[in-house]
Amino acid sequence: MNTSSPDLLPDTNAGHATAAGILRSGRLVAFPTETVYGLGADACDDRAVARIFEAKGRPSFNPLIVHFANLDTLKQHVHWTPEAELLAQTYWPGPLTLVLRKQADSPISELVSAGLDTIAVRLPAHDSARAILRSFGGGVAAPSANRSGQISPTSAQHVVASLGARVDAILDGGPCKVGVESTIVGLTDKPILLRPGGITEQELAETLGRHLAVRHKAEAISAPGQLMSHYAPKALVRLNATEWEPGEIRLGFGEVDCDLNLSRTEDLVEAAAHLFDYLHRLDAMGGGTIAVSPIPHEGLGIAINDRLSRAAAPREG
Ligand code: AMP
Ligand code: MG
Repeated sequence: MNTSSPDLLPDTNAGHATAAGILRSGRLVAFPTETVYGLGADACDDRAVARIFEAKGRPSFNPLIVHFANLDTLKQHVHWTPEAELLAQTYWPGPLTLVLRKQADSPISELVSAGLDTIAVRLPAHDSARAILRSFGGGVAAPSANRSGQISPTSAQHVVASLGARVDAILDGGPCKVGVESTIVGLTDKPILLRPGGITEQELAETLGRHLAVRHKAEAISAPGQLMSHYAPKALVRLNATEWEPGEIRLGFGEVDCDLNLSRTEDLVEAAAHLFDYLHRLDAMGGGTIAVSPIPHEGLGIAINDRLSRAAAPREG
């Protein structure tokens, strides 16, 4: 985060190129899409993605949608399916997001999918968004460009009012047309409507020639692993460990002796950037318990603690 106010970039070739350069350097750029203004970061850069959560002040890590300029680049990161092809041909570029399995070797940050093995992807239709994405070349993770709990921004001025200097630059492309978020369809199993949006369930069913399941809140709670949304390690997780028990796998924070350290210098952006990758790696060691150093309950530490306490919660089965 810089300390002055964000740069307002013009909606010109030069502005798009500057925006792409800022993304490449690991910083944040807000830009218009056909739905709302997005807060973009290089989806392959762990720290840049961590900065999105810091800037928004989100109390938890929910997975982010990755935006691309073209289908070929997008397909390099996911397991593409015939149903994805049908929907893409019909609705892209446009306000439809598909959740697909992630390719094992995709360099997209684990923080983007909050540790899940799926990613949400979309080809937006807005000309300025497309121009920035083309100039950047890769995937851009972008939730709405507002502080957590505030309403979604549909103009550059809304972004300034909500995020101020927490965003490095804003591409000023005028007001967004819709303000409704993208429809999200899961295609990792039978097609399922994960979030309603501008494109309706009926339209999608017609295109696919079959009904979609719909995610109801109650279902999501009764079958979390199947339907969504929270990665949890197989090992038990013990929080606020100030000393290690014999046989524990040790996830440290600060100047401690441990197996992996989220951040020796107690940098919460670095800790968030490492969180899911390290949990996966420690879990793969196959031990019974992962013990975690205390993490301060401030800034990004709130989301980190939220995720760790979910991982530490008792489970069924
Ligand atoms: P927002 O960041 O506000 O645009 O919201 C993104 C939405 O996409 C949230 O509702 C997420 O839960 C959903 N989402 C993103 N990635 C995934 C994923 N891998 N699986 C399921 N839902 C996802
Ligand atoms: Mg939002």
